Amino acid sequence: MSALRGGRNRRRAVIIGGSMSGLFTAAFLRQIGWDADVYERSTVELVGRGAGITAHPELFDALERSGAGTKDLGVEVKKRIAIDRKGRVIGEKPLWQVLTSWDRLQRLLRATIPNENYHLGHTFERVDLEDSGVRVKFAEGQVEHADILVGGDGIRSGVRAFIAPDVQPIYSGYYIWRGAPNETDLAPQTLASIFPHFTFYLPERQQVIGYPIAGLDNDLRPGHRRYNFIWYRVADARTLKEMCVDENGHQHERSVPPPLIRKDLIAVMRADAEQELPPAFLDALNKIERPFFTPIYDFTAPRIVFGRVAMIGDAASNARPHMGFGVSKAGGDAHALARALAAYDDIDTALDAYNAERQPIGERIVLHGRKLGTHLGVDLKTDADRSMWKLLQDYRAMMDWIAVPNFLVT
Ligand SMILES: Cc1cc2nc3c(=O)[nH]c(=O)nc-3n(C[C@H](O)[C@H](O)[C@H](O)COP(=O)(O)OP(=O)(O)OC[C@H]3O[C@@H](n4cnc5c(N)ncnc54)[C@H](O)[C@@H]3O)c2cc1C
Repeated sequence: MSALRGGRNRRRAVIIGGSMSGLFTAAFLRQIGWDADVYERSTVELVGRGAGITAHPELFDALERSGAGTKDLGVEVKKRIAIDRKGRVIGEKPLWQVLTSWDRLQRLLRATIPNENYHLGHTFERVDLEDSGVRVKFAEGQVEHADILVGGDGIRSGVRAFIAPDVQPIYSGYYIWRGAPNETDLAPQTLASIFPHFTFYLPERQQVIGYPIAGLDNDLRPGHRRYNFIWYRVADARTLKEMCVDENGHQHERSVPPPLIRKDLIAVMRADAEQELPPAFLDALNKIERPFFTPIYDFTAPRIVFGRVAMIGDAASNARPHMGFGVSKAGGDAHALARALAAYDDIDTALDAYNAERQPIGERIVLHGRKLGTHLGVDLKTDADRSMWKLLQDYRAMMDWIAVPNFLVT
């Protein structure tokens, strides 16, 4: 690859966002001989985001190829079960899966990037096109020059807001209560019945899903793990807005930082759970000291490349989490970008090739997420929506479709 640009010997990418997408991108670009610097707005290393992540073959592949590896990736489950309100098993499906955690992935990927190329405390502010690349300005005052800018800064991307402000996430009409109680706190009956499996409870217009994940510091030892608890519930936009008033009476726009979620909201949710959840899931929820809620949004954009700016991962398109595929997509986007930049000496041609390959994939994933989301019965507009909703009322269909591997190739 030739490169004597702007007085620099090597091509350079400035990458915004120091989480999954940013790290995957830096790792893959370094492999093709680029300089890659990651800029993250957080002033401290990203830890403790805690959520469970289903690991699909595409994620294993991206981790291996990026150099991060898959060592001690997570907890293995051998099957899925569906239970009824009383906790009786009504269905089973053998499916080996590894359930990892955001923390574990962050640690593996972060280790691929030297500290001097990972810059905390940098908040993207604006990008301007230059003759041979981009000029990137940060809110803290610093200015960087590079051949390309990569926006890996998540669903509320500041990069996307700057270059494509019309592209906005859309509220799905439902949200989840979540948390991860310690294995050791769960009742013996919970440990014996649901803990070892990927478990579904699927009453009308709701979903409760749970599976084991590693404990703190990626502790995989029995007795030291945690349980990933997710409860999908329906709420219209007005109700969500009311939920987004915090403990101090402050109205948040989209979600509330977990420590500020109103206690009365949690109390009502816990009271509902007493009435509605099977005993083992109720036990898991009761052992979550501070449950928090996440509204579900999605979006897709007609382009993921704008001049010399390439969007990656959740910033490029964001699907509802029913496939558990977000990190796999981030790895796939980053790998495709590096492959295109290695294949074409002309950067603009390479970015066009990246857009042509990954924009349609992102769109397909988002549409698939909407299809699976019909299970919750919100806003069913077409006959196809209603047929899908009907199909998914059967728990066997849900076990066959939710967070399963290889959905993109079927
Ligand atoms: C409930 C739920 C369950 C999920 N389950 C799964 C699963 O099972 N499997 C799976 O693969 N995925 C899952 N996902 C999706 C997955 O978490 C995301 O796809 C993934 O975290 C996206 O990574 P990202 O790096 O693109 O974005 P993010 O993780 O959001 O990171 C963006 C980073 O950019 C930084 N940033 C933002 N703005 C700026 C700025 N202006 N300047 C500098 N930095 C900035 C942020 O601080 C952040 O660190 C789930 C998501 C949800 C909500």
